[in-house]
Amino acid sequence: MSELASIQQTIDEEKVKLVEMARAIYNNPEVGGQEFFALDLITTYLEDKGFKVWRGIGGLKTAFMASYGGEGFHIGYCSEYDALPEIGHGCGHNLIGISGVAAGVALAASLGDMPGRVSIIGTPNEEDEGGKVVLVNSGVFDDVDAAMMFHPGCSTSIHVESLACRDYRFIFHGRSVHASTDPWEGRNALDGVIQTFNSINAMRQHLKDDVRIHGIVSEGGLAPNIIPDRAAADFIIRARDSRYLGEVIEKVVACARGAAIATGTSLEVTESGFPYEAMVSNRVMADLFAESLRETGYALDSPHDEGMDSIDMGNVSRVTPSIRPMVAITDQWVPGHTRKFSMLCDSEEAYNIMLTVGQAMAITGHKILKDIELQKRIKQEFSAVASDRI
Ligand SMILES: [Zn+2]
Ligand SMILES: [Zn+2]
Repeated sequence: MSELASIQQTIDEEKVKLVEMARAIYNNPEVGGQEFFALDLITTYLEDKGFKVWRGIGGLKTAFMASYGGEGFHIGYCSEYDALPEIGHGCGHNLIGISGVAAGVALAASLGDMPGRVSIIGTPNEEDEGGKVVLVNSGVFDDVDAAMMFHPGCSTSIHVESLACRDYRFIFHGRSVHASTDPWEGRNALDGVIQTFNSINAMRQHLKDDVRIHGIVSEGGLAPNIIPDRAAADFIIRARDSRYLGEVIEKVVACARGAAIATGTSLEVTESGFPYEAMVSNRVMADLFAESLRETGYALDSPHDEGMDSIDMGNVSRVTPSIRPMVAITDQWVPGHTRKFSMLCDSEEAYNIMLTVGQAMAITGHKILKDIELQKRIKQEFSAVASDRI
């Protein structure tokens, strides 16, 4: 039997169980850090398939690594399984999780005597804290030679990049007084916030096109007749290039400092959340995936490049060659993180795409493991491109 037929056969044999697991995760949505049901379900299945499993890796209780094979090039499939509060699987991580499992199991079954290691890496808490950032910082990806995952969407894009991203909080401290009787004695912290927004808006015309700055007033005072002595704004700042992002952040912080001077308030600046790096999609791997997806019979017509959001896979792409294609589960435009999108993630069409993508990722992995020249090209591109973008 050919290698591709063997991969197809494993997917066919495991199809019922794989869809059952994706459906079970859909019906038991767990928010980031609490995905114990999904962890148990997936790792028990993988142990049953002969994988060696390590749970709670990288300091994250619901993360895992499941490996098959031995020495040689190490392929890692990232599996997400966290849900959104209230909405459940409105980002389709039930599909991501099991497509990675399908790919890993099918590639493992096709290995034969070929050297190489196949892993499924359980990367929890993507929505809330970017679990992959923690796992990358803990060295979990250090011995992974190529990493892959897919994300369901409304269109198909093979070469997906993303923006580096930082979260900032500006807290202004002023002086409260009666807003009508002695306003001249007050220092209005809310004015500090408003002035910050105005200065950032004035700065936008001088920024490069890929920069995104978006904020909210998170604290704006207690009542209109009290001059606020405390106000705060939360901003997310993004750009394609991490170095340029650093420059933009300095400018944004300067806007807040200027606002504090202008309003006679004092400013506290804190960085919150984990820094997301921009995704660098490996072209050699992305082209291989596109070719493999076509080999499954999927009609892939002229996919476009994409990537104006921020994803924790970006951090993975800085330490190992990576791809994170988006594959459509609908031909309608349905916004992500909504109940409507969640419903799509439990459809027959979505589960078929999950299996097709799992098969294509397994074929991609197989092609890489059997071709040392391909392995070299993947690593050469990574060294040339990823290191240049840090
Ligand atoms: Zn999401
Ligand atoms: Zn997602």
